Amino acid sequence: MSVTASDLAFDQRHIWHPYTSMSRPLPCYPIESASGVELQLADGRRLVDGMSSWWAAIHGYNHPRLNQAASQQLEKMSHVMFGGITHPAAISLCRRLVEMTPEALQCVFLADSGSVAVEVSLKMALQYWQARGERRQLILTLRHGYHGDTFGAMSVCDPDNSMHSLYQGYLAPHLFATAPQCRFDEEWREEDIAPFAALLEQHAGEVAAVILEPVVQGAGGMRIYHPTYLKRVRELCDRHQVLLIADEIATGFGRTGKLFACEHAQVVPDILCLGKALTGGYMTLSATLTTRHVAETISNGAAGCFMHGPTFMGNPLACAVADASLALLAENRWQAQVSAIETQLKRELLPLAALPKVADVRVLGAIGVVEMREPVDVAELQRGFVERGVWIRPFGKLIYLMPPYIIEADQLSRLTAAVAAAAR
Ligand code: PMP
Repeated sequence: MSVTASDLAFDQRHIWHPYTSMSRPLPCYPIESASGVELQLADGRRLVDGMSSWWAAIHGYNHPRLNQAASQQLEKMSHVMFGGITHPAAISLCRRLVEMTPEALQCVFLADSGSVAVEVSLKMALQYWQARGERRQLILTLRHGYHGDTFGAMSVCDPDNSMHSLYQGYLAPHLFATAPQCRFDEEWREEDIAPFAALLEQHAGEVAAVILEPVVQGAGGMRIYHPTYLKRVRELCDRHQVLLIADEIATGFGRTGKLFACEHAQVVPDILCLGKALTGGYMTLSATLTTRHVAETISNGAAGCFMHGPTFMGNPLACAVADASLALLAENRWQAQVSAIETQLKRELLPLAALPKVADVRVLGAIGVVEMREPVDVAELQRGFVERGVWIRPFGKLIYLMPPYIIEADQLSRLTAAVAAAAR
């Protein structure tokens, strides 16, 4: 089955794409297949993938081990309800998750997507305090954060660069601290935590939880901040008895050079949200992990249980692929791969900071960000990228790379050369 001109016209007329106008849609590129680090266009051209399909396809596309896990599971069952039923794929996956995350995180809630994992984490925090007989309903978070597009998640996204103005009056009013200013590789400045500390102090008895993206703020600006900020947040949460939710949906599974970004600060959250790369980018699945203390407090509360249970909870097909993806990670090639990508991104992207149109360049792990002084023309840049045989999708002022970990040096150079050309 190949995409025809009439298919593309149908797509434009009838199918919504992410954050896209239905009346003036941006062009879409038909992809027929993907393998390794390459996406194949309908006309046969191949593009080196710089996006990992939004942080997800860490092992590359069409991976034999992930394919095998999917087809073996398909032979048994693609889905079965999780209410009153369990199955080997979920058990094996959750066993791995409990083993690979910090010791304190013992209880796993499987759900549909990153946004839902965030909803689950917020509901856990609310039910936790309800069970303890305290009325704590505020969530404290950071400006420039991004946590998803559902209502609870949107309510903790950056109020200025997200959708707050559109849904004013409908979103729970939460607390936003000034985003960290101290960069990852700068010397730590203690005053950086002061605004957060003051806000938490002021509202301590009302705050149920702090939610943040550890070390890398993704869709809210690709900002990479100092791990000591995170360490201080943990200390302040302990001091004021507030739960800490780490949203590692983007940063988890090696992307920042550590298996989880919290490790940069040796911090353990009370609740951890995972998604995106969990299935190696094969299908949607998320996991929200918490401590036995939080899980048992919720379970001993008035409701007697945690009030969430999606239809496709623990989907066997997704669990089987996720289990295989984590098995690949456990073979530990990712560390050398991510570290080589980081070295090369630094070598090939950092010099772009000298260009007049470039405001800043930053690199951590397998993430490379070039921030322009002005917003870029996405459609035009994208056309240029496709002509050069690469897949890079900028947003706002940001042209960024987060390739699959298996990318080869010459493929990565094609990506950085394309970014350099765009930045010029
Ligand atoms: N949290 C973070 C940090 C994210 O980057 C994203 C997705 N960009 C989400 C939550 C939401 O995940 P999903 O798109 O799977 O709902």
